[in-house]
Formats: sequence, C-alpha cells, structure tokens
Amino acid sequence: MGSPQSNARRVAVVGGGISGLAAAHRLIELDPACQLTLYERRSRLGGALWTKHEEGYQVEQGVDNFITTLPWGLDLCRRLGLEDQLVQTNPKLRQTYVVRAGRLHKLPDGFLMMAPTRMWPLVVTPILSPLGKLRCGLEYFLPPRKHDADESVASFVRRRLGREAYERLVEPLVSAVYAADLEKLSIEATLSRFRQMERDHGSIVRAMRKQMKKRRGEGQSGGGESGPRFSMFVTLREGLSSLVDAITDRLPEGAARPATVVERIERHDGGWRVWATQSGAGDSPPPESEDFDALIMAAPSHIAADLLRTHDAELADDLATITHSGTAILSFAFDREQISHPLDGMGIVVPGIEKSPILACSLSSQKYVHRAPEGKVLLRVFVGGMRYPEMAEMAEDELRPRVLDELAQLLGIDGPPIYSGLARWPRTMPQYHVGHKDLVERIETRAAALPDFALCGNAYHGVGIPDCVHTAEQAAERIINKQ
Ligand SMILES: Cc1cc2nc3c(=O)[nH]c(=O)nc-3n(C[C@H](O)[C@H](O)[C@H](O)COP(=O)(O)OP(=O)(O)OC[C@H]3O[C@@H](n4cnc5c(N)ncnc54)[C@H](O)[C@@H]3O)c2cc1C
Repeated sequence: MGSPQSNARRVAVVGGGISGLAAAHRLIELDPACQLTLYERRSRLGGALWTKHEEGYQVEQGVDNFITTLPWGLDLCRRLGLEDQLVQTNPKLRQTYVVRAGRLHKLPDGFLMMAPTRMWPLVVTPILSPLGKLRCGLEYFLPPRKHDADESVASFVRRRLGREAYERLVEPLVSAVYAADLEKLSIEATLSRFRQMERDHGSIVRAMRKQMKKRRGEGQSGGGESGPRFSMFVTLREGLSSLVDAITDRLPEGAARPATVVERIERHDGGWRVWATQSGAGDSPPPESEDFDALIMAAPSHIAADLLRTHDAELADDLATITHSGTAILSFAFDREQISHPLDGMGIVVPGIEKSPILACSLSSQKYVHRAPEGKVLLRVFVGGMRYPEMAEMAEDELRPRVLDELAQLLGIDGPPIYSGLARWPRTMPQYHVGHKDLVERIETRAAALPDFALCGNAYHGVGIPDCVHTAEQAAERIINKQ
C-alpha cells in the first residue's frame, strides 16, 4: 500500500479528464507526499464531465450519470465524501422509448440491452413484426457458436435474435451508449457478458431466466412492474462537475494545471521530461520543461500515440488505430404545457434504419427531477456518432432547426424552446472494434516496458465512468508500487 516516507516522488499526469483526475487522486491517497502535476489542455478540468447551471437548469454538457453495477464510480464518490449527494433516477419513470416509423413506442418491459427477460411484453410489442418476434423467441433453442473468435455486436445479435430485433431494439440501445457502428463494435470488448451467457448456458434468454429465477429465490427481484434497468444509474445533486471539484480539492495546491498543453515527453536522467505550453497565453509561447520520476498518460489514445511515437513507434501505431467518434449534444427546455407527450420515460433511442437526424434523446429532467424548475422540461439530444459523423460538426443554425423539427414530431412540441444549449465532443468516444481486446493487450505489454510509465483512459477497458476510474486507479497503484 502507500509509502508514507516516500522521498517526494515527482509524478506527471497528462490529461485532466476523469481518468487523469482519478489517477491523481489515487496517487495522493497512496502517497500524500507525492509531488504531483496534472496537465490539462482545456481551461477547465473534467473532460467529458462538465455541468453548467444556466437559467435555473442544471445542464450536463457531456456525461449524464454513471452505472452502479460496477463499484468503482460509487466507491470513489464515497471516498470523496459525496455519498449523500448521489441522486437516483426517478423511480416512477424507468421506461425507454424506441422510434418506429417515426412514432414512439415503449421498449418491451424487461428488455435489457439485448436480452428479453420477459416474453409477454415482447409478444405484444408493436415494435417487431410477428415474424421478428418468432425469430427472437427461437434464440432459446439455437445452438451456441462453437469457435471463440471475437465478432461484431451486429453479427452476434443477428445470429442470436434475428435481424429485426437487432435493427429495431438492440442497435438503437447500444448505439446510444457507444455512438458506434455496431457492424464493427466488438462484442468481447463491450458486451462480453452476453457472449458469456451463450457460452455458459447456450442461450441469452435461458441465462437471463436462470438469473432472474435465482434473484427471485434470493428475494431481490425488485418486484415492481417497471423493472430494474434505470435504477442502475446515479448522478450527483449539484451535477457531475461536483465530482471534478471534489477531486481537485483533494489535490495539493497548484498540482492541477488547466490550460496547459503537453507538447512532448522525453526520457531524461532516469525519469521523464515534460514539455508543455500555456494554452491561450497569446502568441504561441515556447514550451517549458519540467522533470518527473514517473508519468501517467491519461490523455485520449490518439494524443498518447502522438506523444509516445518517439519512444515506441509500434506502440504509437497501435494506439493510433483506435478510432474515435464525435457527438454533439443539444439541450432544450420547454414549458411542460408545450409538450403533448406524457413524458413518462427516461429517454428515447432511435434505430439507424429510421434515418432520423437524432441518435437519442434523454428526458433529462424526467430522469432526474432536480435538473429543471417546476413546470419546465429539460431535454438533451444526441447527434453524430459513427452513424452521422457530419452532424456532430454541423453549423448550429442548420443543426438546431433539424433537431427541433424531429423532436416536435416525436413529442408533440408546440412552439420554440425557452432555453437552448449546444456542446460538441469531437473525437471523444473511442471505438472498440472487433479485435480490441488483443489490441489492448499488445498496447499494455509495450506500455509496461516503458520505465516509470503507466497508461489509462477510456480507450482500453471500458468507456463508462466506473471503468475509467478503475483503470486510472490501477495506473496510479502501478506507479506507486514500482517505487
Ligand atoms: C458526450 C458524452 C457523453 C457521455 N455520457 C456518459 C455517461 O452518461 N455515463 C458514462 O459512464 N460515460 C459517459 N461517457 C463516456 C465517458 O464520459 C468518457 O469515457 C470519460 O469521461 C473519459 O474520460 P477520460 O479522462 O478517459 O477522457 P477525457 O474526458 O477525454 O479526458 C482527456 C483529457 O485529456 C486532455 N488532453 C488532451 N490532450 C492533452 C494534452 N496534449 N495535454 C494535456 N491534456 C490533454 C483533454 O483536454 C481531456 O480533458 C460519455 C462520453 C461523451 C463524450
């Protein structure tokens, strides 16, 4: 564990998103004497975690909430004293809508990402045709695949549940999380638990039914007809920027350097020399260097590739093969009376075959009621991703009316929004393509050969906040344990 007598080890962390912050926090937890410098290109810390409070609304610009079935996000919040700030999703509204032929339909109850845990809601859903439902039901009887090679999520789901369930249910749900092309997305690197169910039980449906039965036996069924899906997520009362602030408050004074771009890193005198410039400091000032005993690389993998190229070209090439998608999020508020839809859900997902300009819409203030004043509704609409990359970059005056038209049709909205905002996230979401696990193994083997170095971030073992925190804390532990 920690080394209280540490000889003031100097550690640089490159990248001040949640990965860099969690790594920095863990370093200080383990070695309070550690001389830490956290470099962040932007003028604020947090990366995709960024809350704005505007006109009475709490508007998450990027990350919305995080999952609690993995322990690391919750655990970090607890250690930071934020446990009493955690907010559950609205227990009365745990429904998701799916668009079919331009209209909203409720996702069949008990349909968990790609697993129908209840048959009757699937039988009666208008989202699938009778043939599509029959094909879905066949999953129970289909033999498992024999060979163990990775495959795309699209191929896996079509093979198990059929084309229709893939296109109408799974593709929109998974796209909303990964902003990905599911024909390329790796099942092993993203949703391996479903592939494991096929391996262990021969069928996803059979595996889920066994799990549910076991849970019921243990008296943890959750009981209610709304199903347990969204209770898996939480946010923070003051918004997710409060997680960033809580971590920053724990770091030594002056350790965090926002608006500071790392331009180059080099091995120097048995450690690392970091060259960085102040961003926004007038006419490109020359980079200044600082020396460290160890370095944690928590910048996006494409930036890591550039910075590491002179140290290991093969490692850089592997890092550079991880592509990233970009998204834009438009936030709109309306008076409740402007919207005719009952808004009795958390969000809307849109299948690619609908050819809609939007990927998904979060009914943000329905999901977490504290986000809008009484009588108002806050919506967050996602566009772009691998489906329509050009939309993430489209000029705002062209993008806004297209999105608002679509929203108006789906939700029955009358009149213009009373608040709007736009956040862009270019090249932010790493794409875990088929073969990703092997690629990451190669990357980590080569990264481990670099002295006093550790790699973390969302490009390797999961894009969600808990996974990023876990990977980052492990990176910090590796650095401390190497002393
Ligand atoms: C729009 C959006 C919504 C999301 N929603 C959710 C959600 O609801 N729940 C969830 O669990 N996950 C969500 N995710 C995924 C999750 O937010 C990310 O995977 C996670 O925040 C990534 O954190 P990170 O620190 O690895 O990367 P980033 O947040 O990208 O941080 C990397 C940081 O490195 C900095 N940097 C880059 N180059 C340099 C340099 N040369 N020098 C110094 N600094 C540099 C960048 O400015 C950036 O701040 C979402 C992601 C996006 C983009």
